[in-house]
Amino acid sequence: MSDVLINLVDVVKTYGSFTALKKLNLTIERGEFFTLLGPSGSGKTTTLRLISGFERPDAGRVEIDGQNVADKPPYERNVNTVFQDYALFPHMSLFENVAYGLRTQKLPEAEIKKRATEALDMVRLTDFMTRKPAQLSGGQRQRIALARAVVNRPAVLLLDEPLGALDLKLRHEMQIELKKIHRDLGITFVYVTHDQEEALTMSDRIAVFDTGEIAQIGTPADVYERPVNPYVAKFVGVSNVIQRDGKAIMIRPEKLKLYDIAPESRSVEILPGEISDIVYVGLMTRYLIRTEGGDDLTALELNARSSQSQPRFTRGQPVWVGYSPDSVHVL
Ligand code: ADP
Ligand code: MG
Repeated sequence: MSDVLINLVDVVKTYGSFTALKKLNLTIERGEFFTLLGPSGSGKTTTLRLISGFERPDAGRVEIDGQNVADKPPYERNVNTVFQDYALFPHMSLFENVAYGLRTQKLPEAEIKKRATEALDMVRLTDFMTRKPAQLSGGQRQRIALARAVVNRPAVLLLDEPLGALDLKLRHEMQIELKKIHRDLGITFVYVTHDQEEALTMSDRIAVFDTGEIAQIGTPADVYERPVNPYVAKFVGVSNVIQRDGKAIMIRPEKLKLYDIAPESRSVEILPGEISDIVYVGLMTRYLIRTEGGDDLTALELNARSSQSQPRFTRGQPVWVGYSPDSVHVL
């Protein structure tokens, strides 16, 4: 038996004369943490809404569990969505917010109590269950929205930039929490984000969107180390793309090494240049280098020792940029 849970085949979606998705093909496996990554307007939300049933395709098929669901409304699909704005009921307690989906199914009261409490437990908010949403922080509201979405035990959870409204520190905490919930529940997550770091940390596989098309689908290491084209190389992380022997090659900043005198080693490739800018970012320092060939490169140095709180180089200083030939990826 195939383990494909969601299958989009040649899906086209237009809004008036505008084509938002151009023949999209995508398969998502059961249990996967699958991320739709791309800049704003690239078609991520539209793809999610086609899976949830809030939109219908102009052409192509949307299959869930081997069934064409084109004619099924959202509530007849075994999926549930967590939106960025949470959409909690303000007048209901947290418990009632979470229990709502179970009440609409007319489950016995004891079952409702058991399952809603389990879901609140999962997001560690059992102690707060009598509170109203307004009495919560942004992160707690996000966790309630999650609990409410999983309480019906959907086969698929769709998450549209669920951490977008949170500050950076909280977002990092919630990323870890979401991963844990994904592991514990064992259900399929389809996750939308425009944040490449978030996509790389959380996903089993990533689809990189480029204006209504998928540029690449792969594991985080695939899209980071082996991007299929300059668009993916630039969108997923900082990259240096340079021309060498008539080919476009890519090297990630952390793979460049800076020397203040020309190195003797024959095992590294060397590009002479000059430091054009220095950005101190705490755990590392980012150097911009203009090479003699006219390329602008970015290199990173980890500030592993306290003495390195002073940059090793100054602006305008001549440097030699070295890299090992096997850290290069030909585009
Ligand atoms: P993303 O989620 O990646 O930011 P969307 O899927 O929301 O992108 O949108 C893709 C494109 O479709 C955008 O150019 C957007 O303006 C357009 N679009 C989305 N929804 C509608 C709509 N209801 N009517 C018209 N255009 C829309
Ligand atoms: Mg969107």
